[in-house]
Amino acid sequence: MLAYRHAFHAGNHGDVLKHIVLMQVLRHMNLKDKGWRFIDTHAGAGGYSLQGSYAKKRSEFEQGVGRLWDRSDLPPLVADYLQFVQRFNGGGDGKGLLKQYPGSPALAHAMSRPQDQLRLFELHPTDYRVLASYLAEEPGVEVKMSDGFEGLKSRLPPPTRRGVVLIDPSYEVDRDYGRVVAALRDGLQRFADGVFMVWYPVVGKLPAVQLPKRLRALGARRWVHARLTVQKFDARGFGMAGSGVFVINPPHTLYAELESLLPWLHGALQQFDGGGWVLEQKAD
Ligand code: SAM
Repeated sequence: MLAYRHAFHAGNHGDVLKHIVLMQVLRHMNLKDKGWRFIDTHAGAGGYSLQGSYAKKRSEFEQGVGRLWDRSDLPPLVADYLQFVQRFNGGGDGKGLLKQYPGSPALAHAMSRPQDQLRLFELHPTDYRVLASYLAEEPGVEVKMSDGFEGLKSRLPPPTRRGVVLIDPSYEVDRDYGRVVAALRDGLQRFADGVFMVWYPVVGKLPAVQLPKRLRALGARRWVHARLTVQKFDARGFGMAGSGVFVINPPHTLYAELESLLPWLHGALQQFDGGGWVLEQKAD
């Protein structure tokens, strides 16, 4: 249990898709002054060294954010995201060296305003310690070393009735797939108007293949589902070929933004002559 460390994967193609979409969701939340609550049920360490032994072991970031870092033809959404990664790397005029990668808590914290709140759950003791040392003392931030699926229940609905929930498990155990669906079902009962965002890997496992169908079947009024496939499974059918995000109650602009983003992102991140993207929605 808990062998998963996001440091191996930080900045990979899955993080790129997830963090660009999360940024758009929070940007939309910031259009109104009323404060929001961001709940990250699986927060990770908050930030990762790309020069440490973990990241270097597989260098997944090189096939993710690394592929975008030196490009000058970035669409606006990607440029915004890279600017944020750049700031996390110390800013400066030029892009400089890509040494660190920000996790979802860092992204949400950077986009938060004094009236906003962060509720961050991380079960791995080491990642929890890193996360807590980085954000626990910040105003409006709560960091807990406890189960995020459970913690979510008592954090909904937010007092302002404005909130974003990111459910981003490691899927280290197959049980996570069912827990995602159950957490959404429960979450929607507590907070029907909340924005719920789920990330999932494209892997050759039945529960992963079935997850989008189960998410559609939740019966949410509005959702957007985006999936990007950039890699082949290996000869034994293992590996992560891509990933998807499913957003319930998305900003009304998200589908159109992803319509132009996904083809570009696929071209930039594809590691073989194939793959592709899926974009679908249920609208009012
Ligand atoms: N959301 C992060 C980001 O985008 O930067 C990445 C999170 S990573 C994919 C998943 C994290 O969930 C891991 O750090 C893992 O230790 C943690 N985790 C696993 N099971 C958990 C649980 N039940 N509750 C809270 N955290 C859990």
